[in-house]
Amino acid sequence: MTDLTSLTLAEARTGLANKTFTSLELTDAHLKAIEAARALNAFVLETPDRARTMAREADARIADGTGGPLAGIPLGIKDLFATKDVRTTACSKILDNFVPTYESTVTSQLWRDGAVMLGKLNNDEFAMGSSNETSCFGPVTNPWRREGSNTTLVPGGSSGGSASAVAALLCMGATATDTGGSIRQPAAFTATVGVKPTYGRCSRWGIVAFASSLDQAGPIGRTVRDASILMRSMAGHDPKDTTSVDREVPDFEAAIGRSVKGMKIGLPKEYRLDGMPAEIEKLWSEGAAWLKAAGAELVDISLPHTKYALPAYYIVAPAEASSNLARYDGVRYGLREPGRSIGEMYEQTRGEGFGAEVRRRVMIGTYVLSAGYYDAYYLRAQKVRTLIKKDFEDCFAKGVNAILTPATPSAAFGIGEKGADPVEMYLNDIFTVTVNMAGLPGIAVPAGKDAQGLPLGLQLIGRPFDEETLFSLGEVIEQAAGRFTPPKWW
Ligand code: GLN
Repeated sequence: MTDLTSLTLAEARTGLANKTFTSLELTDAHLKAIEAARALNAFVLETPDRARTMAREADARIADGTGGPLAGIPLGIKDLFATKDVRTTACSKILDNFVPTYESTVTSQLWRDGAVMLGKLNNDEFAMGSSNETSCFGPVTNPWRREGSNTTLVPGGSSGGSASAVAALLCMGATATDTGGSIRQPAAFTATVGVKPTYGRCSRWGIVAFASSLDQAGPIGRTVRDASILMRSMAGHDPKDTTSVDREVPDFEAAIGRSVKGMKIGLPKEYRLDGMPAEIEKLWSEGAAWLKAAGAELVDISLPHTKYALPAYYIVAPAEASSNLARYDGVRYGLREPGRSIGEMYEQTRGEGFGAEVRRRVMIGTYVLSAGYYDAYYLRAQKVRTLIKKDFEDCFAKGVNAILTPATPSAAFGIGEKGADPVEMYLNDIFTVTVNMAGLPGIAVPAGKDAQGLPLGLQLIGRPFDEETLFSLGEVIEQAAGRFTPPKWW
């Protein structure tokens, strides 16, 4: 039998249905792979007993014909999703050993559909970061290395554990979240497929909140098809999240292989950055040529407010974060550092419990929301956000079906290489934050490699609730570019 961990989710689904192997075998193969890959630090908690119990249940249901669409498929869960009776920390010391008594809506839908939980995945603390270096559990290692080099590279962030685990074949797919690029950037850094759905497509209930008007859950998968399968189970209306939208969830997988003939694909001129590496530029033109060869029409478009997206995001996101993180006060969750008064206890707990990047965001957020600065910063950023959204609406009104851009301005970088200047790290999100600001869906698809053999991704941005078009177009790119798996060294 071929190594079960090298199958795609779709292939494993067929193997399980045909009884070529059982979910227990598939799950055990992944548990073994996880054990052998601890050096990557992708998992912060392994749940092998739970995984085997769930796998046995799935096998029983497959046998009696009641298995759901994900029956027996082993997945990893970003540690930002609350999992009932399983430690959930957002990779922050402040949550300590917090064990939720409830399950997030997204994960409960995955279990409803028969998936198996292998464990919890590393991420940047409270999902703040682009390299997974802010986690209280330490950085995650990217399974990809530069050719002929032993330098350990970041997998991107904040969903670095999810991307690394999927790329290293430790799980068949993973949940992730994206506030400014946290699904798409790590997917691009690891040659996996990441989807940030339209805001409101997936319930945020039970996901540790970072910036509520921007946060969305989505999948990271091995292929476009795998991501589409996961998306269907993760999406859907939830009365417990008032921002989740009551709209039918399409069969996303059915969009794969659908013709893209006649589709208008926008190429925004503002994404052609000064000093952009020639490799990224080349990748972008190649991607455009593949879509053209499949019958799509390429059009030059303008998104004039792009240059304000990053500064506006770094006002809106910290503002919301400072408010969301007010709840970690040493009383309700996890860590408590005693003090002589309640005020001192709050201070000690928050000072000890939050890492440096999170403290920076809380301070920025508090500042931009404070009296006297609110109008100058927060209100102005909100206005810019509206203009960014309008840029996209204008393009869609002219008949553009989707927009093609690079996913990131570079390939993966080394652990510790960036971060002395926080702005340098923030620049990673240059191509992705606009999508969150506008609430649109986006997909990152592996499209090639740089001169050092590192994967690079392309991003497709869609109309609201038109993830299907992204899956159709994404698969065209995937077919042309091929699938990339890192050589195993760990
Ligand atoms: N890198 C961005 C930030 O640090 C986005 C993170 C995310 O999408 N969660 O805010």
